[in-house]
Amino acid sequence: MYLIFRCSRCGRYLYAEEGTGTRTCPCGKRIVLRKARVIARAEDAREAGEMVRSLQLGGREMTGFS
Ligand SMILES: [Zn+2]
Repeated sequence: MYLIFRCSRCGRYLYAEEGTGTRTCPCGKRIVLRKARVIARAEDAREAGEMVRSLQLGGREMTGFS
């Protein structure tokens, strides 16, 4: 399972495999996953990548996703 979350510094959408400790954003911010606010979950990296891409494009339609 992959988690989709947002960088608290720059607002970029990121994803990481569940169980990963930290993820470093391209802006340099180190995000602790268990403290991050998870926006969505995906089955695999491909799906996670697609979700991040559509969120990055301003996908407000994703709001109702659970
Ligand atoms: Zn960032």
